[in-house]
Amino acid sequence: MKVAFFNAKSYDRHSFTFANERYQHEIVFFECHLSHETVSLAIGFSAICIFINDYLDAEMLEILAKGGTKLIALRSAGFNHVDLASASKLGLAIVRVPAYSPFAVAEHTVALILSLNRKVHRAYNRVREGNFSIEGLLGFDLHGATVGVVGTGRIGAIFAQIMKGFGCTLIGYDAYHNPSCLDLGMTYVSLPELLAQSDIISLHCPLTPDTYHLIDDRAIAQMKTGVMLINTSRGGLIDTQAAIDGLKSGTIGYLGIDVYEQESDLFFEDLSNRVIQDDTFQRLLTFPNAIVTGHQAFFTRQALANIADTTLSNITEFEQNGTCLNEVKVEKAIAAK
Ligand code: NAD
Repeated sequence: MKVAFFNAKSYDRHSFTFANERYQHEIVFFECHLSHETVSLAIGFSAICIFINDYLDAEMLEILAKGGTKLIALRSAGFNHVDLASASKLGLAIVRVPAYSPFAVAEHTVALILSLNRKVHRAYNRVREGNFSIEGLLGFDLHGATVGVVGTGRIGAIFAQIMKGFGCTLIGYDAYHNPSCLDLGMTYVSLPELLAQSDIISLHCPLTPDTYHLIDDRAIAQMKTGVMLINTSRGGLIDTQAAIDGLKSGTIGYLGIDVYEQESDLFFEDLSNRVIQDDTFQRLLTFPNAIVTGHQAFFTRQALANIADTTLSNITEFEQNGTCLNEVKVEKAIAAK
């Protein structure tokens, strides 16, 4: 198919060009985001390929449909950046990459835990400045710590497996009790129990109306003093102001996040020459016991290769059959919302 590829970074070009040797689609890479200003670039392309920070509203979808687009290929698992109802009305199919590397996200979660605990971010700067004092760098043994996993699906289960290796006690909260987590010795508990018992809480559930601000003032008040809170799932799971208050009061002893509620205005771009206007985000960066990474948990060579391969295979499947196994079932998705 003729594919307009928006928001192309160097790593996307590399992984998709390599994978496309097998699929032979006609891909044109555009560096710009898909937006009202750029949507006309897609006219005449039967497929477009976009990322999580490219938004598609009703007006843009109409322009695409009129311009001959039949397929929207998301190179992400999530699809809440597309107006699904409008796409469905216009007969536009949407395909996605349901899973690409649960290991990538689980391992980054552990990277945040180890960095926060052993203060690697602070030690790195100190040693470079010739300061070899270890005052203030005291950590704790992960061995014996209780780790609460909220959402024990693909990523949560692999994260649990890694933490089991450290000798942690595992507790989980999820309506679905994953057999692989039960095999690890995880005990499923209620959310209040998980909040009260965990030394480390890690979020791995999707963002839905039910989970929006799952971690708010009330939830933080139920946590152990000095808890470590980690979010590599979706920013909206945490009420950021509540997390800031928790850090200020000391209830939250460590905060590690790879996702942020308002990240679409910040992440994936080099803003180092700009004045960042988001005061809440800037406040987060002032805490010595908080680490923020810019939605990079997925970013491994293997994950990029899998994203490219699945996306291009989705496009081929749609081209050949008019349907695709990884198509977003719009009615179901809208009902779930
Ligand atoms: P998954 O569907 O395999 O697992 C999600 C689990 O969450 C399921 O077991 C489900 O039952 C559970 N769940 C749903 N609602 C819940 C609730 N209210 N409370 C507790 N558990 C609930 O998904 P996955 O592949 O493990 O991905 C998990 C999340 O990771 C995704 O939703 C996505 O937001 C995030 N993610 C982040 C990155 C990144 O780069 N930071 C990359 C990929 C995925």
